[in-house]
Amino acid sequence: MTEAKKTTGNVEMKDIANLCKRRGFIFQDSEIYGGIGSVWDYGPLGVELKKNVKDSWWERMVYERTDVEGLDAAILMNPETWKASGHIASFADLLVDCRGCKKRFRMDKISGKECPECGGELTEPRSFNLMFKTQVGSVEGQAQDVYLRPETAQGIFVNFENVLTVSRRKLPFGVAQIGKAFRNEITTGNFIFRSREFEQMELEFFVKPGEDEKWYEYWLGERMDWYCSLGIRKEHLRLREHRKDELAHYAKKCHDVEFLFPMGWAELEGIANRTDYDLKKHSELSGRDLVYFDAAAGESYTPYVIEPSGGIDRAVLAFLVDAYRTEVVRERKRVYLSLAPRLAPIKAAVLPLLKNRPEVVEMAHRLRDDLKGGYRVIYDDTAAIGRLYRRQDEIGTPFCVTVDVDSLSDGKVTVRDRDTMEQDRIEASQVKNVLKSRLGSFSE
Ligand code: ATP
Repeated sequence: MTEAKKTTGNVEMKDIANLCKRRGFIFQDSEIYGGIGSVWDYGPLGVELKKNVKDSWWERMVYERTDVEGLDAAILMNPETWKASGHIASFADLLVDCRGCKKRFRMDKISGKECPECGGELTEPRSFNLMFKTQVGSVEGQAQDVYLRPETAQGIFVNFENVLTVSRRKLPFGVAQIGKAFRNEITTGNFIFRSREFEQMELEFFVKPGEDEKWYEYWLGERMDWYCSLGIRKEHLRLREHRKDELAHYAKKCHDVEFLFPMGWAELEGIANRTDYDLKKHSELSGRDLVYFDAAAGESYTPYVIEPSGGIDRAVLAFLVDAYRTEVVRERKRVYLSLAPRLAPIKAAVLPLLKNRPEVVEMAHRLRDDLKGGYRVIYDDTAAIGRLYRRQDEIGTPFCVTVDVDSLSDGKVTVRDRDTMEQDRIEASQVKNVLKSRLGSFSE
């Protein structure tokens, strides 16, 4: 392992996409029919990784705090919601088409007046609403137009009064939600970075007006720290403040948490001071007074809202990109995902060195049974040991536990570390404790 030459970095999106498909993290949706643009399915490993990302967010944002409640609102909402929020009027990208190569671009993503691909002439910008429309009700002529939600946030705002009443909360407090969102994106590509169906993890943190700027600063730090705590390298993350002309219609201030993706710096999460915009608009349109009574001050007011809004799919992509490592070991290339153990889809793989020795196989099965519970531990004997290690390295399994013929007499097995490839020989009965301590506190 000492002769290993690290070549971290310089990963290309195609390396990640290939690995994801080959190993079963992410597939193109409805692939057997040729797929559908920018919609993705998570395979056996992807579903575990994504779940671990969501669970880690929920732990940090809800379980570790005393000032946040959870919510799971529906995707379909009364369309008045989108009138109030401004999405029907202004949730649109300005687009330009190239008269030469016919490609379409978002105005805010190009500089200059010529096509960035072929240098051709561009059309005037046109507005394109990003919401997917469908109907509720089956009787022709009586169906109502509704939208697939383009963000989860509005589900929280329309439930503000409900959550406040049942939780008896005082400001400041937050409501956290994870769920699907849909946008009919025009410029797609870059694998799962910009999808038409994706998941968001959003917190709406309600504060007293005047305390908003303090809380805004707090959430900038808190969110950066979450990504770092799960292994993203600091130098691959940065905060970028929105210019006045980029700010969303509802925002007083906004920062993007940006990650250094293979195509360059791009948004991972948006943190916005949404002021009292949404609650006030919903109050106006619904006729329900969405205010907070401050008993200590003896007054009612509309809270301000600080919103950290992240995309789970983008976070999954960032964790994969940042974890991707290659090195040369004994003149052979080794690829491994140095994922934080908390995120790794499989925590340990139990491998028999000789699958034609029934006692070895039996001991390996017993060991796997002993280790199971709370997280994914697998048994694999479908290849020779070198190949089995390579497979586990490439999917980010932190530990492999190998049972060999000597194990039968001395009761010991080999625990191999994914990143260092170091091997420890320990009592089989101790493996559970050793893994627990190395995997961290979540593995209780
Ligand atoms: P972009 O400018 O990249 O389209 P946005 O500023 O419109 O993103 P927000 O409305 O702030 O995005 O949404 C919050 C988060 O939701 C984003 O930071 C991103 O992680 C995620 N997100 C938004 N759109 C998509 C998408 N089409 N695919 C995947 N994730 C998305």
